Amino acid sequence: MISLEQLVRKNIWSLAPYSSARDEYSGKEAHVFLDANENPYNAPYNRYPDPLQRELKAVLSRVKGVPENMIFLGNGSDEAIDLAYRVFCRPGIDNVVAIAPTYGMYQVCADINDIEYRQVLLDENYQMHADQLLAACDGNTKLIWICSPNNPTGNSFDRDEILKVLNSFQGIVVVDEAYIDFSQQLSLRQELPTHPNLIILQTMSKAWGSAAIRLGMAFASADIINIYNKVKYPYNVNLLTQQQGLEALKDPFEVDKWVKTLLGERTRLMQAFVELPICEKVYKTDANFFLARMTDAQAIYDYLVDKGIIVRNRTRVQLCNNCLRITIGTRTENNELLSALRQY
Ligand SMILES: *Cc1c(COP(=O)(O)O)cnc(C)c1O
Repeated sequence: MISLEQLVRKNIWSLAPYSSARDEYSGKEAHVFLDANENPYNAPYNRYPDPLQRELKAVLSRVKGVPENMIFLGNGSDEAIDLAYRVFCRPGIDNVVAIAPTYGMYQVCADINDIEYRQVLLDENYQMHADQLLAACDGNTKLIWICSPNNPTGNSFDRDEILKVLNSFQGIVVVDEAYIDFSQQLSLRQELPTHPNLIILQTMSKAWGSAAIRLGMAFASADIINIYNKVKYPYNVNLLTQQQGLEALKDPFEVDKWVKTLLGERTRLMQAFVELPICEKVYKTDANFFLARMTDAQAIYDYLVDKGIIVRNRTRVQLCNNCLRITIGTRTENNELLSALRQY
């Protein structure tokens, strides 16, 4: 990796961040707070929340085995995705490379930030090839996006293939592990100490059952996290989210139970899809959803909508012609989907 100073935009590297009242004084001993122009009434909502979410990070650090200074928390993973562009990529000059098909937000944020978005198509088995990603890079490539398990294809990529990208690329590699809790693969978290160019994204939105609170995480070197903290909105994670995040993290065993149940249902649902005459192929998955190639995805999608059952129609996505993406629901929901499809 070339030095972080060379990778980060000059204006960001030299940025003097906003200093809030809570940054200047964050000790616990004081009891009269007349520094932030807050209203003294309506506790606890009258006070600005901790800009660095220290309590939440302390718990997450134990759950994830990542030091607190290597954790960034944001308003969903989407904030961490957008920040990668704003920190590293010069609008109109730099570019990024990503696998395709993949999660749509990488391209939307590239477009918003006026960054060229280079796509490298997966092969027909939805596998990625490190050499092809590296070949798409040039001197202005700042980021490579890898989503594993990948959305919408569902599969994980070979760890050695990802490591090859990490070891050969001179810029930042972002690995989105939104679905890692459902996966057979290990997280790349343990690679962080040896790979200063790695940013790992995770989220409370999927296995942790907390999409509504908007809490996403990035794990990276302390140097990268410091820059992220400088660029983010000062109070990017509100008090309610911090409280509810702590609440959710109290019970990792509950999450394990959900995951086991969902994986069991996934197996059952996929087997049932294989038997459907209107289903041509069910793709291997490592996430809480799977991709199924149907005889006529659009017509089946419309038929399901009519019955009040919503799946994701991916037929217009590259390599996903006639594919529906099915999220695993409760046993009752899955049965309702199956019986509707059997009557199609
Ligand atoms: C669902 C999903 C996320 C989660 O985004 P949040 O903003 O944290 O809810 C991130 N990445 C991928 C690939 C996803 O599918």
